[in-house]
Amino acid sequence: MTTTAITGCGSGIGAGIREKLEAQGHRVIGVDLKNAEIRADLSTAEGRGRAVDAVLEACDGSLDRLVTCAGLAGSVKPRSLVTSVNYFGAVDVLDGLLPALQKGQDPAALAIVSNSAQIAPLDEHPLVLALLDHDEAEASRIAVEHDSGPIAYMGSKHALGRAVRRRVRKWGDARVRLNGVCPGPIRTPLLEADLQDPATARAIESIDIPIGRWGQPEDIANLVAFVLGTEAGWLHGSLFYADGGNDAEIRPDRF
Ligand code: NAD
Repeated sequence: MTTTAITGCGSGIGAGIREKLEAQGHRVIGVDLKNAEIRADLSTAEGRGRAVDAVLEACDGSLDRLVTCAGLAGSVKPRSLVTSVNYFGAVDVLDGLLPALQKGQDPAALAIVSNSAQIAPLDEHPLVLALLDHDEAEASRIAVEHDSGPIAYMGSKHALGRAVRRRVRKWGDARVRLNGVCPGPIRTPLLEADLQDPATARAIESIDIPIGRWGQPEDIANLVAFVLGTEAGWLHGSLFYADGGNDAEIRPDRF
């Protein structure tokens, strides 16, 4: 039986991924603040360490698949919470569980990023650079100082996408596939939180998805199941957009 750990499985996209993988016969070890086998707060280094230890215990040191999906909306304050959960809550769990994945069967991991990761020119933004330096104190300081939900959210997702790509050699040498999925807007509690925030609500409500509808958690879960699966054995270091054409319409000439 395939053993799969999923962070953020308690709601929205993570819950959809859990349902899909369980239907395929996976044994899921969920990590979340709620509705999960392992309750852990991924916003702190201590909580992340406890989550990794608890997963290692639950899987007896050998893990086949991992999905990091836990995340917070940009509207959440303080903004440092957004950067800590969305970036460190993903990379520390990925890195912490790599040795267990190396012992797994046909192992693969996947980070849920966002199609907003490349929408703003954030390549050299100090927040992104601090995140990529793994300097949580500095990243938190910058996030609080800027006090911008979009910068905290998009910056953490931009850095996460780059963190996935930067690990391609190390994880390839370990024979563990690592990819990212970048969803477009999906009606979940996270998106509802941003819709309550006047600063972001108008921009979100004006989104016009080319394929004619917003996404559902199962749209992402179906792609995740494929990318993690045995037929996807040559997929490694890639970021897959699943957004009904939203990114392509915004940036048709860049990819
Ligand atoms: P959601 O709010 O429904 O689920 C997020 C989950 O993360 C919740 O169960 C929550 O408890 C958990 N979580 C939050 N903080 C945590 C913490 N400190 N420790 C442990 N768990 C924590 O949101 P969602 O829309 O399903 O989002 C899932 C992922 O998808 C996020 O990473 C989000 O950034 C990403 N995403 C969502 C959308 C969208 O439109 N909904 C678009 C692109 C990317």
